Amino acid sequence: MFEKDYDVIVVGGGHAGAEAAAASANMGSKTLLVTMNLQNIGQMSCNPAMGGIAKGQIVREIDALGGYSGIVTDKSAIQFKMLNKSKGPAMWSPRAQNDRMRFAEEWRLALENTPNVDFYQEMVSGLLVEGDTIVGVRTSLGIDIRAKAVVLTNGTFLNGLIHIGEKQFGGGRAGEKAATGITEQLVDFGFDSGRMKTGTPPRVDGRSLDYDKMIPQPGDENPEKFSYLNTDILKTQRDCHMTHTSALVHDLLREGFDRSPMFNGRIKSIGPRYCPSIEDKINRFSDKDSHQIFVEPEGWHTVEVYVNGFSTSLPEDIQYNALKSVKGFEKVKFFRPGYAIEYDYFPPTQLKHTLETKLLNNLYFAGQINGTTGYEEAASQGLMAGINAHLKINEREPFILKRDEAYIGVLVDDLITKGTEEPYRMFTSRAEYRTLLRQDNADLRLTPKSFDIGLASKERLKKMEDKHHKSNSFVHFFRKTSFTPEEINPILESVSSSPVRQSDKLFKVFSRPKVTMEHMLQLESVSSFVNEHEFNSEVLEQAEIQVKYSGYIAKEKNNADKLHRLENVKIPDNFDYSKLKSLSYEAREKLEAIRPVTISQASRISGVSPSDVSVLLVFLGR
Ligand SMILES: Cc1cc2nc3c(=O)[nH]c(=O)nc-3n(C[C@H](O)[C@H](O)[C@H](O)COP(=O)(O)OP(=O)(O)OC[C@H]3O[C@@H](n4cnc5c(N)ncnc54)[C@H](O)[C@@H]3O)c2cc1C
Repeated sequence: MFEKDYDVIVVGGGHAGAEAAAASANMGSKTLLVTMNLQNIGQMSCNPAMGGIAKGQIVREIDALGGYSGIVTDKSAIQFKMLNKSKGPAMWSPRAQNDRMRFAEEWRLALENTPNVDFYQEMVSGLLVEGDTIVGVRTSLGIDIRAKAVVLTNGTFLNGLIHIGEKQFGGGRAGEKAATGITEQLVDFGFDSGRMKTGTPPRVDGRSLDYDKMIPQPGDENPEKFSYLNTDILKTQRDCHMTHTSALVHDLLREGFDRSPMFNGRIKSIGPRYCPSIEDKINRFSDKDSHQIFVEPEGWHTVEVYVNGFSTSLPEDIQYNALKSVKGFEKVKFFRPGYAIEYDYFPPTQLKHTLETKLLNNLYFAGQINGTTGYEEAASQGLMAGINAHLKINEREPFILKRDEAYIGVLVDDLITKGTEEPYRMFTSRAEYRTLLRQDNADLRLTPKSFDIGLASKERLKKMEDKHHKSNSFVHFFRKTSFTPEEINPILESVSSSPVRQSDKLFKVFSRPKVTMEHMLQLESVSSFVNEHEFNSEVLEQAEIQVKYSGYIAKEKNNADKLHRLENVKIPDNFDYSKLKSLSYEAREKLEAIRPVTISQASRISGVSPSDVSVLLVFLGR
């Protein structure tokens, strides 16, 4: 049935598993993707959307590295928005609404078209371990499949328990079985495990809604896209709509609170802080008598609609009665009720920066199993685990992204250094160097690195180099080309910026806050330079950011360089912290448990104070 020996087995075909399989296979590893249902590869368990604040930057990074999430998103998008466009470019965050069924189909096709990926549908119920190294997996039919490395991406499926009101039943997602066996075996090997919770809103029949009572939410007039490769930009888009809950809706929901698993103690685990259920919102913000609801189509052609903002595990009759009182939902018909799910996760401080476990060699964890929430967070971990599994079994150096190089670097470092006790999602505020980690420059930051390890294609590298050279030459042009007061003053007056008396370099006037590329293009010298070199919109955007934010970017690079000095002070593998009596008790305990590899990582562990860092530096001769 199988190749005798795989290089890499990926368990689970969600966002993490799909990226992991693609990465290891594209780098040359013979890869087997084992998943419980081949129909559900790349399934969006919750809302049909990719990206958003900080998450959009992650998808761009995945794409820049040669992952598939950006391409799949572009191919299945039904609406695109660049969020935060009124703020600085570090905050611009792409978000797409997707056709759920097409998204999964595009993922499946992308993997089927990837040489080196084999597929098998079954539940993995155990791991094959020899000594302290993983050597394969055992399926529920009792079939053993061997591999040099295994990536676990079980998502919300490990001992998953679904709650709707007082009813509870096993499941990894509505309509799908829970996965059993793996948690218990890992705990026997000495792993710590915990429980987390998440939830989802009801899905309803769009034909039963009155959209005239809601506010349309169209996509951007000039939509962009996620992939740096040549995917298509949307020519038509589907609108979302907005409506609101009311005091009456809240009262109707309250009628079910005594049967709510959230409030009657049945659900004990912690859910995502920033995606609270509607009952949680009513409870926590009792002074508010209205919350927003976004009505999101599930695809181009289906009538199914996702009720964003109404996540709930209240009894289904309560969900239905309350929703019927929302404006536009008076005649609503349900496709599926909302529900909550509890599942096992493994505290991620048990992992190295490569996402390999510290306890078992060549075993990698990625995605929701590590305590994260979100498709983007999961996909990026899958990509990194797939890359590192391939590199490890080929005895090559690990691929680790630093905090000033990628949101993915921040994500992994946060997880393995600080751990997480509630579902972890990415925010721009988690990144110290977010001016450097923009969505527009993920290719410039990451594609060369990925090409060097053998993942990003030549085509991708060439496109990035072209953009790099062209935007640099454009910035150089602004630095060396002068303007005359006669040509620039009408533009400055039009934006109420003070006029100039003498000629100066274009760079200087372009740096003024209200002057944009659009204004610059009104100058004959600039527009002919652009036409002569055939610059596209990406090059124009990149050059504009490089000019207008050069001061901020330089300052942040300088700060990042300072961090690198601590990053370069390595702590030996078997360092004995008990020898350092002047460390605080808490610091010693945390350092022993997490075993940071550099002083910089040690300094980010909660409980390790600046004076503990000094003790370490002195001991290490620095
Ligand atoms: C009800 C619900 C609500 C959610 N709400 C939100 C939200 O509001 N916001 C948000 O950002 N995220 C939400 N999520 C989370 C989001 O779906 C996940 O973060 C993301 O899908 C995780 O990706 P993953 O690849 O880690 O796992 P998943 O997408 O869960 O995929 C896991 C895959 O592994 C397979 N699998 C599991 N165990 C085995 C096994 N033993 N053998 C073989 N195959 C196996 C499964 O079949 C599945 O294909 C929600 C998820 C659920 C279920």
